[in-house]
Amino acid sequence: MLTDKLPRVSIAHLPTPLEPLPRLTAQLGGPELWIKRDDQTGLATGGNKARKLEFLVADALAQGADTLITGGAAQSNHARQTAAAAAKFGLACALVLRGEAPARVQGNLLLDRLVGAVVAWVGERPLAEAMAQVAEDLRAAGRCPYIIPYGGSNPIGASGYVAAMEELLNQCAGREQATGIRMRFDHIVFASSSSGTQSGLAVGVRALQDVNGSFDGRILGISVDQPADVLRRMLADLATATADHLGLGLTFAPQDFDVNDDYLGGGYGVVGDLEREALRTMAGAEGIILDPVYTGRAFGGLLDLIRRDAFRPGEHVLFWHTGGTAGLFGYGERAL
Ligand SMILES: *Cc1c(COP(=O)(O)O)cnc(C)c1O
Repeated sequence: MLTDKLPRVSIAHLPTPLEPLPRLTAQLGGPELWIKRDDQTGLATGGNKARKLEFLVADALAQGADTLITGGAAQSNHARQTAAAAAKFGLACALVLRGEAPARVQGNLLLDRLVGAVVAWVGERPLAEAMAQVAEDLRAAGRCPYIIPYGGSNPIGASGYVAAMEELLNQCAGREQATGIRMRFDHIVFASSSSGTQSGLAVGVRALQDVNGSFDGRILGISVDQPADVLRRMLADLATATADHLGLGLTFAPQDFDVNDDYLGGGYGVVGDLEREALRTMAGAEGIILDPVYTGRAFGGLLDLIRRDAFRPGEHVLFWHTGGTAGLFGYGERAL
């Protein structure tokens, strides 16, 4: 494997299921739809951060850390999975969350508290600065903190999605062998935000491009909170750094990445009709639950693209479900 030389702990339930969506495909009358169930990774429910944390926690343990620090929004899935990973490995966890403490403790925040994380509310202060401050305070108290950046998106975390691309290609090859039917995706569509997922997938594709069963389709990130040009620059930087971390010697440019920022709506975490319809459509046709912030926005974008005939008949489109289910319960009826 591309990531074989990196320290890694076992956290996620892998490989995650790769499943067809026959009822949804029939209902929409567009391309053949499949789903990759990274909402089923486990770790205080599931989600894409579990893959990143396998590498991040291993690095923290190698450095002798006793406390994980990370940050995000009040309903951060990344914070919840980091807090759960800390508990699993006997580490303390300090979370730096944006805004003020909400009146009700629910969704991800409920799980943060259950697994024993300590939460600091930092208003509008920049997260990186607040995390550095918490780390300094812990060090002064004789502790050994390890900061995991926003979204777990550095070269160590993104390596989780290099491995995920390899996992997908192995699943496709296995299905081809078992069924004799060609199993290739023309498009992979998912929610893209702090750039770890998309840059990891892109590094995996490039590194494996000459291997049997490699991917020659398009990887489309639906931006959840960034203008496309900003996200493309983040992706190029992180993909290049991740390839370097893996000793692959590949460089990436912003134009190497497919990003769609047409679905930013009212901004990060603001649930609109697009997200609500996406949640209802997936749940009603397949019984699969999306979240209102990430996967709902990305799948809403995919629904719109299908209606606009962005895909050719007979094409295979994989929706990569990145998790967020616990976040749904932080939104309650606003997601209906
Ligand atoms: C963090 C997250 C994403 C975005 O992944 P990035 O690696 O930050 O781009 C997508 N979906 C869910 C549910 C997430 O929690």
